[in-house]
Amino acid sequence: MLDSVRVRLMLWYMSILVLVLVGFSGVLYVMVARSLYADLDDDLRLSLETVTVKLVRELGENKPERQAALDAINELSTREAAAVFNSSGTLIAEQPAQGNIHARLPAGDSIPGGDIHLETESQRVGGADVGRRVAAQRVYVAAQDAPYVLVISESFDSVTDGIGTIRDMLYITVPGALLISGLGGWFLARRSLASVVAMSERARRISAESLEQRLPVGNPRDELGRLASSFNELLARLDESFSHQRRFMADASHELRTPLSVMRTATDVTLEREGRAEGEYRDALKIIDEQVRRLTRIVEDMFTLARADVGRQGLRPCDFYLDELAMEAARAAGVLASRKGVEITVAPSSEVLFNGDEGLLRQMLLNLLDNAVKHTPAGGSVHVELALRNGHCTITVSDTGLGIPAEAQPHIFERFYRVDKARSRDEAVHGGSSGAGLGLSIARRIAETHGGCLELRCSGEVGSTFVASLPLPEVAGI
Ligand code: ADP
Repeated sequence: MLDSVRVRLMLWYMSILVLVLVGFSGVLYVMVARSLYADLDDDLRLSLETVTVKLVRELGENKPERQAALDAINELSTREAAAVFNSSGTLIAEQPAQGNIHARLPAGDSIPGGDIHLETESQRVGGADVGRRVAAQRVYVAAQDAPYVLVISESFDSVTDGIGTIRDMLYITVPGALLISGLGGWFLARRSLASVVAMSERARRISAESLEQRLPVGNPRDELGRLASSFNELLARLDESFSHQRRFMADASHELRTPLSVMRTATDVTLEREGRAEGEYRDALKIIDEQVRRLTRIVEDMFTLARADVGRQGLRPCDFYLDELAMEAARAAGVLASRKGVEITVAPSSEVLFNGDEGLLRQMLLNLLDNAVKHTPAGGSVHVELALRNGHCTITVSDTGLGIPAEAQPHIFERFYRVDKARSRDEAVHGGSSGAGLGLSIARRIAETHGGCLELRCSGEVGSTFVASLPLPEVAGI
């Protein structure tokens, strides 16, 4: 049961409320009790003062001592017991309280000179001990040396009645408030967590095959709504990545299947008949050799792509000069270029010290150069240029080739996309990349993994220009 957030929330809420209510009730109880005790003392003081004034006045009118004392105390309420003693402690007059309770003289020396003495006494009434509050005062009368002692006592009934009332009130209100707020808390927690329950129900039903489903978003501005929105964004990214993977797998298997079926056909046809001439076997092996090379290239390309996809942690970074790497790549591509009658030129550049994965960046440059040479007719040229701008090194590879059709330009960086499948595959046999439509996507992924980008700046009848921009170490934070 404690595994439910709803129950835990309500228990926390109730515990805090219990603490608050108990604390509040305790303070209220103590304050009311103290005020009732103080009121009782005030009542007794007032009665003492009234009786004293009356007694002094009556004695001043030369009334007999006992009569004057009786007159002074007979107007007190029936709750109060009063008695007047002379200085030697002899009772002169008294008025018992209801229940025949008598005011008793406190120990003589405990009553101070002119002040009021207050104490609590216990009397046995009807077989039970009853507590009473006692107030006593010495009363000095002119022309008399010794003072009288006036004693008034009152039961604690008014105090206990008041305290009882407040206690009864708290006994009802505190559990009532707890019950109402507990039910309210349970209801509120249920309501506000209902969307979480709905979200978890839906999330449980979402699998890799149903990533297009989304969680219900109640109020998109509150915390749970924002959580659901973030989760939905995550689902959208996962969905995108899963369909990307699926597309990739489908395209990859398609690409791998073609050379395999060419090889199978070659072997089937050759083995169909026995006693073939050596030349026929050689032709079959040549076909198989070409297809194996092609398969190897595709697998290598896929491996490079997988490495670049891992991100920065897949890199093997080292310090090297980018300008030297560009020269080296141009020299390597120059073999194919000179065979085709295409000239490769590299613009002179200052030294560009770089930190990154040299092997992957060489692959990026080779893919760009390989494409440029492949798509440039004999007599054309390919130009490579390095420039430093805003902490970035831009590498421009431009050619005077046929250009890329406008409708194909938005897709050339997609994996396995080729403008002209037959031509690309045929030429790739002699070139640098697999010709499976992976060259540019690999090059772009490598640039991105280094914190940079690769774009087609322009392409038309006069050729194409690709620009890779790589942040230099201090900008990339390498
Ligand atoms: P591949 O590895 O098959 O060459 P890429 O991903 O490198 O595939 O290129 C995708 C397509 O873009 C290619 O089919 C090609 O037609 C086109 N392309 C790439 N570079 C150039 C270029 N410099 N000139 C003309 N077309 C190009």
